Amino acid sequence: MVPPSSERHNGSDPFVGTAVVAVLASRAVPESPDLTILQEAFQAALVGRPLADWTTVQPLVVRATGGEIDALRGRPLDRVERRGKFLTFWFGRDRIVINPMLTGRLGLGIPGTKALSQTAVVLTFGPRAHAKRKGVASWTIRAQWIPADSASVELRYRDPTRMGKVYLVPDGVTRPVAGWQEQGPDADDPALDLATWQARISRHSGELKGMLKNQTFVAGIGNGYSDEVLWAAGLAPFRKRSSLAPEEVQALHRATQEVMAWSVAELRQRVPPRFEVEVRDFLRVHRKGGTPCPRCGTTISEISPGGFVTSWCRGCQR
Ligand SMILES: [Zn+2]
Repeated sequence: MVPPSSERHNGSDPFVGTAVVAVLASRAVPESPDLTILQEAFQAALVGRPLADWTTVQPLVVRATGGEIDALRGRPLDRVERRGKFLTFWFGRDRIVINPMLTGRLGLGIPGTKALSQTAVVLTFGPRAHAKRKGVASWTIRAQWIPADSASVELRYRDPTRMGKVYLVPDGVTRPVAGWQEQGPDADDPALDLATWQARISRHSGELKGMLKNQTFVAGIGNGYSDEVLWAAGLAPFRKRSSLAPEEVQALHRATQEVMAWSVAELRQRVPPRFEVEVRDFLRVHRKGGTPCPRCGTTISEISPGGFVTSWCRGCQR
């Protein structure tokens, strides 16, 4: 039985609460590097194709009216963008915004092939005259996983906890996209230089891990990459921001840039063609509790309050 909508948004919903803990224990939550790979892949595979169909399997994740969906059918996709933990698909001045939250995953499939389990939304794109090269990441050009231009292709969104959202925002409609407005600059934004970083960080207090995960400080970092950034910076996750020396603030900035660039380069090699699977095995400290630190050899510590894993090295993170 589907509970009434007022209950479905309640975080204490026993189904959602149990499912979230189960999912967090076994899976990774999409963060900026994961979504950058999806943005680059979907830009290459889908731009130039018309939206042929929109199938809503789980109405809870969709914020759109039937009329709005009908009006978008047949319109070609112009570009795909990432901002923080959101992907935006532009059709002229209208857009689809997807925020996968904790458990949403996106993949590509050919119509008629086996669906992803717990599919929530399927967007079917029709054939296109030719692939667009402009604005396409070089690693995607002539990639084997890109469907033929003559084929239709499905963008499949699955979400076991149905906490993510797929918003259709037509031009002129002020539909709120939860979490969008309050985002700080993207963690990998070249404009986030050291001076900007220093000015922003001075406004945040509390522990470093929590600060990095705070989307109003920088957008796109979550539970996994905050561990990686702190390891790269040599800083312990529970240090207070106010305790940082100026050179440690600088080290955190440099580590953020390095980890974002390094992880995207790794994921380009490791993710395709299964875009719906979060790849994390290459990380250096996150979920590596009990194994030797790759930098100093100390056994990595790990705790998981509330299902969210924090891993760090007591030997070289101070
Ligand atoms: Zn270490």
